[in-house]
Amino acid sequence: MRGKANVLVVDDELEMCLTLSDILEARGYRVTYAQDGFQAIARARETAFDVVLMDVRMPEMDGVETFRRLKEVSPGSRVVMMTAYAVEDLIADALREGAYGVVYKPLDIDRLIELVEAAKRHARRLVRTR
Ligand SMILES: [Mg+2]
Repeated sequence: MRGKANVLVVDDELEMCLTLSDILEARGYRVTYAQDGFQAIARARETAFDVVLMDVRMPEMDGVETFRRLKEVSPGSRVVMMTAYAVEDLIADALREGAYGVVYKPLDIDRLIELVEAAKRHARRLVRTR
């Protein structure tokens, strides 16, 4: 299937959600954002996202836990973790459990776009069971 990817941005900082939405929409992506893990899961039940950009540090449900739940709801989505911390056990867990990649904050936008493109190419459009 051709065309731009459907991207979900998940970050507890609204500013980051808006900035990434602007950048990605300017490049033709369809972007939805969520400010916590619960919202993210709810959005993923409505839409099959090709790529999810997931902040790691979020209150209540962190990005790795959100990633785990999202995998069940939307196994075809490729998830890229975003973190400000270079060494983080949570990141290692997420990668071992199938996260597509990691980008570090402050974000290198070119690198982020490259990763989104690569993740999109590897996204599987699976039929969801619910
Ligand atoms: Mg955060």
